[in-house]
This record gives sequence, structure tokens and C-alpha cells, in this order.
Amino acid sequence: MILAEIVTVGDELLDGRVLDTNARKIALFLADRGIQVARHLSIGDREGEIARAILEAAGRCDLVITTGGLGPTEDDRTRHAVAAATGADLAFHEDVFARIEALFRARGMPVPASNRLQALFPAGAEVLENGAGSAPGFAVRLGRARVLSAPGVPSELDWMLRESIDRWIRERGLDGEAPRIERFRLSGLSESAMQDLLDGAGQRPAGLVVRDRVDAGEIDLELVLPPPRDASRWAMLDGLVKALEGEFGESIVSRDGTTLVEALVRKLVALGRTLSVAESCTGGLIGHLITEVPGASAVFVEGTVAYSNPAKVRSLGVPEELLAAHGAVSEEVVKAMARGALERTGSDFALATSGILGPGGATPGKPVGLVWTALAGREPGFGPVRAWRREFPGPRSAKKVFAAKHALDRLRRALLAARG
Ligand code: ATP
Ligand code: MG
Repeated sequence: MILAEIVTVGDELLDGRVLDTNARKIALFLADRGIQVARHLSIGDREGEIARAILEAAGRCDLVITTGGLGPTEDDRTRHAVAAATGADLAFHEDVFARIEALFRARGMPVPASNRLQALFPAGAEVLENGAGSAPGFAVRLGRARVLSAPGVPSELDWMLRESIDRWIRERGLDGEAPRIERFRLSGLSESAMQDLLDGAGQRPAGLVVRDRVDAGEIDLELVLPPPRDASRWAMLDGLVKALEGEFGESIVSRDGTTLVEALVRKLVALGRTLSVAESCTGGLIGHLITEVPGASAVFVEGTVAYSNPAKVRSLGVPEELLAAHGAVSEEVVKAMARGALERTGSDFALATSGILGPGGATPGKPVGLVWTALAGREPGFGPVRAWRREFPGPRSAKKVFAAKHALDRLRRALLAARG
């Protein structure tokens, strides 16, 4: 297997001004091609240190990819550093300079003298085209490793990864077999419950890596089986996946990374059904999440943020007696909110939330974090308004997210049996 190291160059990466998104992009790009990244390293704009970092990395792995420091300014030292590391001189490439000149001419500008620097490459380097900027990248050999240098500008790196770097890697046969990845997007399941189901699901093939990431109340679980492709390991993973499909059951939102709210909007579109929301403690978050999804306009009718008691009466027709008898955070009131939204908007479904975000506001029997959720449906077979009681932990913003995701998940589950 090809082993790679990523070296990103720039003082701005070290002092926190710029987040190193290039390293992440390159890592994802390499993982897709079955190339294992052993190390990420960021280094300042000092030629000696860059040269030393490249030399050390090249001594440990097969492929070193650097970004940054290829520009025309005096703090751009990467080309000099690579030349120093390989013991080569910098050579002027007439054809590259002619292309830079043409770029500037097309913009009606003279070529600044400092741009000549971008046509200098360590002797013997292969030039790698950059279709999104003036500075091309290049690749050299260093001992048994190859060192590939690309500019730091993210849009230029994107272009090169997609075009010239991808081609360069394939032409040299550096790409390997990508790992097999089985994904589960889960919702309405805690991480520990997920782990228990995983533990009980059966035997794992040798080398299987389990990765899970909790993302605002949803779980992204990945089972990664590295190459080589081996019939018995593959079959064992097939068995595990089948068992997990059964164990996770209705908690599976998607197998391709589609999120809860995306899956819900798609399902409503497929069924030709519409939704309204009546939000108290979630403060419009459910409406926001739904309207983030392209195509939401086909299914989302209206969102009411009825935060105060008078608003619940005025906008949703919640009876005042109900509020007086049970309080705003109660099964009775949240059901009345959902019913009111359904009737007043004419939508097919209505979700409602009411809860205590804290830190104050708890009463006996109603702790901070208590959230009531209700779901009303118009179809005759749907039955009476349903409601759920939950207690969510964390700061206010986290409770809002959990409550919103819980409401969306209740509707998703309610629609599972429906055809569309
Ligand atoms: P240029 O020709 O524009 O000078 P360069 O190769 O010299 O390109 P840098 O000067 O290092 O690149 O960076 C150019 C821009 O890209 C800067 O805005 C910088 O903040 C950003 N950048 C550099 N490295 C990274 C990185 N690792 N992740 C995200 N952004 C980066
Ligand atoms: Mg620069």
C-alpha cells in the first residue's frame, strides 16, 4: 500500500488565522484512491524548515504532497525548499512563463517581474498544470519517494486534485484499491444503544475499522474494510451488514449519508404530502432545518413560532383553559398546538414542540430539559394526535437541536410504512 504524508506550508496555518482545509481535502482525495495518509504536518514560511520537513517525510513514505508557498511573494519559499531538499538548482521554464504572460495579457495587464519566479522549478521536475491560477504545481523524486507541490489557494488546489494530480497519480499507478465502506445514518438511537446493537450483531472480518460520528442527534456510522478484496472477509461483512439492517431497523435514515431532514423532505415529496410546524421551545429551528433542503417549497406550508401563551391562543387556537390547567409544557397543550396548526394551515401533517430550555423555569414534575412533541395527521387512517415526552441534556442550543431532530424523526418514522 502506498503511504503518504501531507505537508501544508504557511505561517497563517500555525498562528490560527487560517484553518488547514487543504490537508483535509488531500486526505479525503487520497483515501478515495486507496492511499494511506500516515501524517499531517504544518510548517511556517521558512525555507530551511520546509526543506527539512520534506526530507524527513520523504524518508518515511512513498508520496509527499505539499501545498502553499508557490506564489510570487518573498514569503513563498516552497520551490526553493524542494530544490534544496533534492540538491537541484532552479531552472527557468520558458513555456510556463509564456503561459503566465498570456494570462496577464488577456486581462490587459503587464506581467510583474516577480511572476518570473512562478516559472522556476527544481531541475528535472515535472510541471503539473494549474487551470485555476497562475502558479503550476510540480513533482520531483526524492530518494525512493515522490514529492508533489501544489499552490495553497483552495480553489486552485481543488482544480489540480480533480484534474492534473488525479491524472498524475493514475499514470504512475500510485492509486490502489479503495476500502469498502458501508454507511449507516441513524436517528432516534443513542450512541450507547447503537454500540450494543453493533456488539451483538455478529462476527467482524479481520481488519474492519468502525468509525462513528455523532452529528447533532444523528449518528453517522461507517464500517470500513481495507483492501485486499478477500472473499471470506467480504462475505463476513455482508453478513454483519445484513444483521445490522435488521437490528437498527427503523432507526436507519439512509445508507448513503442522506440526513434525517433530507430524507424526510424527500419522503414527503414522494408521497405528495405537506407539513406545517407549530414551534415553541425550538423557536423556528424545525422550519429552518426543513427550508435548508432543496425542494422544501413543495412540502412546507407554514411555520408558526408561538413562544408566548397569548401567541399559542391567538395563532394556533389553543384554548386558554388548557394552558391554565396544564401549563404550556404539557401533553394537552402540545397536542392542541399540532391540531391548531393542522386546521389553520390545511397541511397534511403538523408537528408541535413545547419545552423548558432552562436554566430556570423548572417546576415540580417538570424539570429543565423537558420537551413535549406532538404530531397530527389529516388522513383518516392516521388516528388521533400523538405525543411524546422527552428530557434533553446540554445547553439551550443543544436542547433545541435535539428537540427539533426528535420531532422530525417522529414524522419520519410515522411515514415509513406509507408508500411513495
Ligand atoms: P499564491 O500564488 O496565491 O501566493 P501560494 O501557493 O503561495 O499561492 P499561499 O500564499 O500559501 O499559497 O496561500 C494562498 C491562499 O490560500 C491564502 O489565502 C491562504 O490563507 C490559503 N491557504 C493556504 N494554505 C491553506 C491551507 N492549508 N488550507 C486552507 N487555506 C490555505
Ligand atoms: Mg502566497
